[in-house]
Amino acid sequence: MSMPDAMPLPGVGEELKQAKEIEDAEKYSFMATVTKAPKKQIQFADDMQEFTKFPTKTGRRSLSRSISQSSTDSYSSAASYTDSSDDEVSPREKQQTNSKGSSNFCVKNIKQAEFGRREIEIAEQDMSALISLRKRAQGEKPLAGAKIVGCTHITAQTAVLIETLCALGAQCRWSACNIYSTQNEVAAALAEAGVAVFAWKGESEDDFWWCIDRCVNMDGWQANMILDDGGDLTHWVYKKYPNVFKKIRGIVEESVTGVHRLYQLSKAGKLCVPAMNVNDSVTKQKFDNLYCCRESILDGLKRTTDVMFGGKQVVVCGYGEVGKGCCAALKALGAIVYITEIDPICALQACMDGFRVVKLNEVIRQVDVVITCTGNKNVVTREHLDRMKNSCIVCNMGHSNTEIDVTSLRTPELTWERVRSQVDHVIWPDGKRVVLLAEGRLLNLSCSTVPTFVLSITATTQALALIELYNAPEGRYKQDVYLLPKKMDEYVASLHLPSFDAHLTELSDDQAKYLGLNKNGPFKPNYYR
Ligand code: NAD
Repeated sequence: MSMPDAMPLPGVGEELKQAKEIEDAEKYSFMATVTKAPKKQIQFADDMQEFTKFPTKTGRRSLSRSISQSSTDSYSSAASYTDSSDDEVSPREKQQTNSKGSSNFCVKNIKQAEFGRREIEIAEQDMSALISLRKRAQGEKPLAGAKIVGCTHITAQTAVLIETLCALGAQCRWSACNIYSTQNEVAAALAEAGVAVFAWKGESEDDFWWCIDRCVNMDGWQANMILDDGGDLTHWVYKKYPNVFKKIRGIVEESVTGVHRLYQLSKAGKLCVPAMNVNDSVTKQKFDNLYCCRESILDGLKRTTDVMFGGKQVVVCGYGEVGKGCCAALKALGAIVYITEIDPICALQACMDGFRVVKLNEVIRQVDVVITCTGNKNVVTREHLDRMKNSCIVCNMGHSNTEIDVTSLRTPELTWERVRSQVDHVIWPDGKRVVLLAEGRLLNLSCSTVPTFVLSITATTQALALIELYNAPEGRYKQDVYLLPKKMDEYVASLHLPSFDAHLTELSDDQAKYLGLNKNGPFKPNYYR
């Protein structure tokens, strides 16, 4: 089977010729940010307390500031298998060394490294693009000299990213962006491989900041790149070690929340280094929103409720990328799907795709499942919940837990019964039950796993953004927030095509001239979504 070669890696190890392209690269205007950003104002707390730097037997003070929502939401609960056998001693109080005698890490149990290595190897199978990037750029070492401090979910898939960055020449120190999502065995495998990782599943808030601090604050080692997911690491460096920014060449941020924080800093004139907004890359958006939700909505619903979809009436609120993905999956299983929309264009798309567009009130009494995907708030109100039929399943696929008015269900006349992890029956006085999943939080991240292939797209984009920022000549990027140049987005996609034995057509010179394109891309304008 002949595999098509991906396009040449843009901008790595060669004189970077993209200055013009990148100047043109879409810089988000604040207006654009506002339309994308979560409605809730995210603010940095100025009065963050000092955490206890060293563990004490009597316990630790906790921080007054609550960590970002992404840090505390449960994530991929199915991902870790390790905890039950572990003792209750805090990793901060244990003396551990890896097989090479290094203790430059803090994980739950270094003995789980072998198990974690197998998990990483499984993830590598579906992250061939990242592995291919690793192989292509390994000789050039485009990250030689890079000292990357990272704060992301620590899972098998992120481990593949971290090890790719190391293979490309970087030194990495890593902590977790979420107190629940670390796969302990994977953290152990990374520590065994020599990565300075400070993370375990079930960290306290105090531990969370301690781990971040251990990554940033190290004698004889100073970071020159930041890879963040949620903005907590960036925030910590701003508050505690602002001098570190003198050496930082750039920040790569993946999450909606973190990107919003960066735009706030930029607007306030406080962003002192260039930052790359990976969240809004086309490939990431399409895969995270459309395809990931198409793959995971049924998994989340089935794991929690064992529901059969054939013939079920489902209403999906919002027909954006996430809504489209959910509807495609539900329709394929024979569910009868209704859509609610506020935007006539998306409503018309739903009609063209064969769905009935309705107001929620019109169908609320008859539907078996209600799914919100709007990014909005109070889409499902107490009034709607009162009118639902017995056993109606209610869940949310949008970013925050504001879409379903869960607070309105916490009243004395209603009884809550926890029937399974992430499944509550809310019982009305007449015996009617509504099945509420994940207390209105993101269903797929709370109750199922995210496909590795989706994470491969994000990880490849993150790696390229780091390479680009690290190698960019002085002046290419200013103290602002940038989108990855379209050509790199296309490169991420091209690296993933061989997995499908997809054969890309090449433009002839004549065709390229006719369309006014460079034969090697970019093939679409920067505004293309
Ligand atoms: P989008 O903007 O493409 O779609 C949202 C749609 O909801 C829009 O078409 C909008 O017109 C519609 N809408 C807004 N208010 C509404 C209301 N009151 N009633 C009916 N429709 C309404 O956004 P998206 O990319 O589909 O993302 C939706 C949400 O899902 C966001 O919060 C996003 O952060 C989140 N998200 C979730 C996942 C996941 O894995 N579950 C992945 C990516 C994004």
